[in-house]
Amino acid sequence: MKYIDLQKQYCLFKKDIRSAIDRVLESGEFILGREVSNLENKIAKWCGSEYAIAVNSGTDALLLSLMSIGIGPGDEVITTPFTFIATAEVIALLNAKPVFVDIDTRTFNINPDELEHSITEKTKAIIVVHLYGQAADLDPILKIAHKHKIQVIEDAAQAFGAEYNDKRVGSFGTTGCFSFFPAKNLGAYGDGGMVVTNKKTIAREIILRRQHGADKRYHHVKLGVNSRLDAIQAAILLVKFKYIDQWNNKRRQLAKRYNKVFVNMADIQIPYVLSKSKHVYNQYTLQCKRRDELKKYLDDNKIPTSIHYPTPLHLQPVFSYLKYKKGDFPNTEYVSKKVLSLPLYPEMSEILQDIITKKIVKFYD
Ligand SMILES: *Cc1c(COP(=O)(O)O)cnc(C)c1O
Repeated sequence: MKYIDLQKQYCLFKKDIRSAIDRVLESGEFILGREVSNLENKIAKWCGSEYAIAVNSGTDALLLSLMSIGIGPGDEVITTPFTFIATAEVIALLNAKPVFVDIDTRTFNINPDELEHSITEKTKAIIVVHLYGQAADLDPILKIAHKHKIQVIEDAAQAFGAEYNDKRVGSFGTTGCFSFFPAKNLGAYGDGGMVVTNKKTIAREIILRRQHGADKRYHHVKLGVNSRLDAIQAAILLVKFKYIDQWNNKRRQLAKRYNKVFVNMADIQIPYVLSKSKHVYNQYTLQCKRRDELKKYLDDNKIPTSIHYPTPLHLQPVFSYLKYKKGDFPNTEYVSKKVLSLPLYPEMSEILQDIITKKIVKFYD
């Protein structure tokens, strides 16, 4: 059994994907170009955003977003300590200071009630993470950000297609950042990412900076990076994009099937879904008493599971210079010891799912 079976999806769409790759090989246009603009236009429209700019990864989408709003030394950027390293890494790479705010244990996302007292005169932005595929509680966050004139950047790497108040995430903040890492809901066959925005000035800034700050060939007006999307990845993503709603629906169905089994088990807490949100389950994550024992039991029974994330960011060696300590973010530290993600991907069969649930039920019996 695999935690995620990417080959199964490839086999189902093999013909379309190979012909898309061939189309690129024959075009001789390998970086940016028509395939990439086509994907940008489709995703902008789909998110309800004016602009979409394809980049090399979700990490670069975040980095370029921060660069585009002028984040630099002396600035503070607020985010959650319960996320993938990339979210805070990009802040530190620009010599700004990551400031962590604890999460709500139900949603795993930043707790809006704890946001305001972390804001200082140096706070320039908040990176809101929509962890596991569920939107953070954006209404109160946007209200606070607006009041203090702080930019909101959405880390929607795990939330392609997730909705809040019936609107797709990515379009709420100054920018929305997506990742096309193969295991994300819309995954390429390599690295890739996208920034969406409604602001023309921000879009222009990101277009400049993804290509060495060049406004025309060999004329550089800003510092930038090399972060262009490959045409092959764009062509593959165009094939897969047609199925994203169907796949996200399938993820929700499978999550519902899991929930049915676990909802009445005293030792397990099923994912909590905000009433305003539509979850896309990039991860199906339980909170379990005796998590480590259960994980070991499942490992022994060849059922793969995953822990996102075992070490909160404020306790990572790389951020020791920020002088956070154990106990600073009790909710984050607590859930990092309880979370367990189970296999869930659109092509997963119900038979396979039943094998997993039976083992878990057996463990607690
Ligand atoms: C995957 C991920 C990223 C980084 O995306 P890459 O495409 O791997 O660079 C950033 N933030 C979160 C929350 C992620 O899950």
